[in-house]
Amino acid sequence: MTEQYDLAIVGAGVVGLGHALAARRRGLKTIVIDRDARANGASVRNFGFVTVTGQQRGECWRRAMRSRDIWAEIAPQAGIEVVHRGLLVAVRRPEAVPVLEAFMATEMGEGCALLTPDEARARLPALTGALSGALWSPHDLRVESREAIPKLAAWLAGQGIAFRRLTAVTGVEPGRVDTSAGPIHAARIVVAPGDDYHTLLEDRFALYGLTRCKLHMLRVADPALGRLPGSVMTDLSLGRYLGYAELPEAAALKARLAAEQAEHLAHGVHLIVVQSADGSLVVGDSHHYDATPDPFAPEAVDELILDEYRALFGGAPRVVERWIGTYASAPDRLAFIDRPDPAIRLVVVTSGTGASTGFAIAEEAVAELFD
Ligand SMILES: Cc1cc2nc3c(=O)[nH]c(=O)nc-3n(C[C@H](O)[C@H](O)[C@H](O)COP(=O)(O)OP(=O)(O)OC[C@H]3O[C@@H](n4cnc5c(N)ncnc54)[C@H](O)[C@@H]3O)c2cc1C
Repeated sequence: MTEQYDLAIVGAGVVGLGHALAARRRGLKTIVIDRDARANGASVRNFGFVTVTGQQRGECWRRAMRSRDIWAEIAPQAGIEVVHRGLLVAVRRPEAVPVLEAFMATEMGEGCALLTPDEARARLPALTGALSGALWSPHDLRVESREAIPKLAAWLAGQGIAFRRLTAVTGVEPGRVDTSAGPIHAARIVVAPGDDYHTLLEDRFALYGLTRCKLHMLRVADPALGRLPGSVMTDLSLGRYLGYAELPEAAALKARLAAEQAEHLAHGVHLIVVQSADGSLVVGDSHHYDATPDPFAPEAVDELILDEYRALFGGAPRVVERWIGTYASAPDRLAFIDRPDPAIRLVVVTSGTGASTGFAIAEEAVAELFD
């Protein structure tokens, strides 16, 4: 006799766990299956930056707001520390200021504030580089992913969600998941395999034209910075994050960035700085696209990231850790819920936004399957 589940979820990254969370809220008998002993993919390699501000206007921004609310609600229950809240976008070029002003005039600017350079330095005295202004947003939050994801999984297990680890899923069909440890029977199935788009449902994945994006990440020690008031970004992020970059006012800034920071743009480098409980800083990132990204991390790319960091803070950050991560990337969408069968959903975040939007997307997919 094999056990029967209401829902089987393939993948125990943040997207798979988001589905388990939504299923738990409905009291569904649920199993999560993952081939690794513990989370090892994008979900533990990211910044843990639950980014609302700057996400693409409309669906993505709304999903980020909803996911942020879910993170804030479950973090204390699961023993996950919210390390800091809010976002400071500190800009040094005058062309960035109209972008921030235009952003403030949209519904996404609600609750945010434009700051003068002095007001920005009052929040973060370590901003010693040239500044033209800043945006403060209270909406975003940060968790330490490498701790938060295991804690979330352990909490879900304590709430009755079954986990089968070190188990590879080799096939899915309505009502049944085939694994390296035998079949699992479930009325509904969610496949959330991150950037593995060849093992399962390859014909469905083929519809989306996916590739992979590789990112460089650093942890630095820089005691001179003190405590960050929230996550920090710069002008380069305004050219990259669609909530700003799609505003018409961003054209002049993008032209100036192309002229002045062509090498950064060629490597997809922009700056995110977040802080950990011990005061160290997670700093990134870069974006290189390839079906099979190479596993190497050239120093020159890290130097571009640190160059942007020093332009903002000066100082001498000491690198204490480096890693790379990858996520699935689509040419024309940030995420998708695919429907291979009425009882199966394939759910993939195809941009660097899964920690920010995954919970809301999971809620939508579970509602589709069970309502
Ligand atoms: C360096 C980096 C920085 C990022 N920063 C941010 C950020 O700050 N904010 C943000 O919102 N997003 C960020 N992202 C994006 C975010 O991390 C991803 O969108 C998200 O983690 C994807 O989650 P996932 O669960 O789909 O994938 P994963 O975390 O990769 O999990 C997929 C899981 O599926 C399992 N799996 C796959 N196939 C099978 C199979 N056949 N059988 C069994 N198990 C299988 C894998 O073992 C894996 O555990 C970043 C990504 C990277 C790489």
